Amino acid sequence: MSADKIVQRKAFRSLRQNLSQEEIANLSLAIEQQFKVFKKQLRLKKVALYWPFDQEVDAKLLIPELWQDQIETYLPRLRPDQSLEFALYSADTRCQANRFGIPEPKDPAKLASLETLDLLLIPLLAFDLQGHRLGMGAGFYDRTLSKIATHPKRALFLGLAYEIQKADSLCTDPWDIRLDAVMTEKHIYYFNEQGPL
Ligand code: ADP
Ligand code: MG
Repeated sequence: MSADKIVQRKAFRSLRQNLSQEEIANLSLAIEQQFKVFKKQLRLKKVALYWPFDQEVDAKLLIPELWQDQIETYLPRLRPDQSLEFALYSADTRCQANRFGIPEPKDPAKLASLETLDLLLIPLLAFDLQGHRLGMGAGFYDRTLSKIATHPKRALFLGLAYEIQKADSLCTDPWDIRLDAVMTEKHIYYFNEQGPL
């Protein structure tokens, strides 16, 4: 792993740490408003989200409106191979904290085959306008997304971020998987020529 990535990770982590709980709540709410409009453009059946950690955009806010539209929501669980699997999260799902203290749906849980997800909402520390993503440094999403990256009907890879997480240019490694788009409180950035769909 490049030393530059470590430097960038530190800088963007501290930017995010400096947000107050009130700022996070307001920015997450603005993202939720954008998402409300955005989701109508897609025919969604299965959406993977995440339980926010370390001041990430609060993706949990999106869950009630997805349920209202009869869209299934899935949350990540850590797998022994250091990738993620996505378990159904519904109103009666019980959760249990993983080794990072992040709640995960408990067994018995219905798992989604990765290639059947329509939309994957992905947390990040920083992104750039090439669709590069800097994560917390464990590579969980790279390992997971690499399994379906070339699948013709795979989910849209949508990062959720604050504007302050936009970088001029990020260092990358060969295993990094690019995002298709990033939604912030102000914009939706698309990185592929074919646009939103
Ligand atoms: P992040 O994406 O969280 O910012 P990195 O891209 O630096 O973190 O990846 C962290 C580690 O995960 C790297 O050291 C790399 O070896 C490992 N990794 C990433 N993707 C894969 C993969 N597809 N297979 C095996 N290891 C991977
Ligand atoms: Mg990476």
